[in-house]
Amino acid sequence: MLQTLGVGGAFSRRYGTTCGLLTLSSGDRWLIDCGRQAPDQLHDAGISWHDLAGQIVTHVHGDHVFGLEDFAFGRFYETRGEVGSIVSGGPQPHFVAHSAVREEVWSTLYASLRYHKLGDNPTAGTLNTYFHVCAPVAVEPPADNQWNHSESFEAGGTHLIARESEHVPGKPSCSLEISIDPASDRITWWSGDCTVDADYLASIEARTSIFFHDCTFVEYPGQVHGAFSLLRDLPESIRRKMVLMHHEDNIETHRAEAEALGFRVAMPGDIWDLVTGQRR
Ligand SMILES: [Zn+2]
Ligand SMILES: [Zn+2]
Repeated sequence: MLQTLGVGGAFSRRYGTTCGLLTLSSGDRWLIDCGRQAPDQLHDAGISWHDLAGQIVTHVHGDHVFGLEDFAFGRFYETRGEVGSIVSGGPQPHFVAHSAVREEVWSTLYASLRYHKLGDNPTAGTLNTYFHVCAPVAVEPPADNQWNHSESFEAGGTHLIARESEHVPGKPSCSLEISIDPASDRITWWSGDCTVDADYLASIEARTSIFFHDCTFVEYPGQVHGAFSLLRDLPESIRRKMVLMHHEDNIETHRAEAEALGFRVAMPGDIWDLVTGQRR
């Protein structure tokens, strides 16, 4: 099950920064990305940082990571219910990201998270101070960039692949293939932010329950998102499995056209059944 807490693009003021709340078969809840509005989105959904088992990050842009400091410090210093603060020996949330993305996450958070009052060195904080950083269980070697083409993780009993995708040229950014059934190769696909790779989407279509794809209706040179003008040319079998997210505030002016083509449009709070591929 996956709840789209926020579904807006980088400049959305109406739909919130795109953020997914993933509930695994174990019952563990993980967050996919943690943008600048994620702390408030979680609060509005009645969920605290202490309810989360882990965090997955696709890439470093403010609409995907600017809520992470709140998560880190919230768990580090605060105790809630049964879940103790990390300073008092409580559990760390897990953290999954491709290593090239993880390095950029730390570059972003370093100025605040390296400072804490424990031990002899007050600037010794690392990502490991706040999170249980998961190492990949398998990697594919570099292909288009110098970092691994993909890295695979075991997250709360679920297999997950972070695969490099084309967002801003030269920037580490990943899409996610999330296993939804350990007994099969079926997945849910989450784009993060990326341009449309029709061949790749076709190659995984048969085993994908839902494609969550970022989508823009704004055409500009050097497109870095899923341009609707390209998404609309995908085969109907893919369009019918695709949920458009990370969209602009004027999505309602495009909804009829998108739905006529078989797409569904994500809204904040929607809950998606990853097995059936249907909205609940
Ligand atoms: Zn974004
Ligand atoms: Zn981005």
